[in-house]
Amino acid sequence: MDEFIVAAYPQLSEPASTKVLEGTLAWGYFAVGAMRLDTPNGIAYRVELTNTGEGIVLSGTASCTATTECTRCLKPTNIDIEGQVEGYFLLQPAEELEGYERDEFECVDADGNFDIAPAIHAALVYATPYVILCKDDCAGLCPKCGADLNEGPCECDLADEDDSDNPFAVLKNLKFDNE
Ligand SMILES: [Zn+2]
Ligand SMILES: [Zn+2]
Repeated sequence: MDEFIVAAYPQLSEPASTKVLEGTLAWGYFAVGAMRLDTPNGIAYRVELTNTGEGIVLSGTASCTATTECTRCLKPTNIDIEGQVEGYFLLQPAEELEGYERDEFECVDADGNFDIAPAIHAALVYATPYVILCKDDCAGLCPKCGADLNEGPCECDLADEDDSDNPFAVLKNLKFDNE
């Protein structure tokens, strides 16, 4: 994730002054835990910055079309993601703050610059579902042989059916109509 540095001065120097930033960040991917989401078309953003007197409020949206592995079958799967970007940057240098404030607030640096990339990244992470499926009823992979069960039953299934000594074999023939 590259930095996205914004300057508070001179355009945002006056209280109530605002600035809209719009464009596309050339981030090729982002990660959510162990999940990697490729974003070959980058991240589109539209954010508004407002000077509230004591700080700069950041709000807007970030969106992308990402490609990742289906959570069940690992097939490449596209997903549209749109998140709400939010942030607040004190216009006071961090050195002037008390200890607890320094932990709690983000600040502009001595030149009035601040990085909004973490807020955009956080918006995408928050908007990404935990489970991403290639289709709602993806059958996933066989836990034994790893075959893609979307393409039909695997050989493990066939082997089980031959196993007439198995006392549970009869259960496999039960079907539930309401599924
Ligand atoms: Zn799948
Ligand atoms: Zn199998």
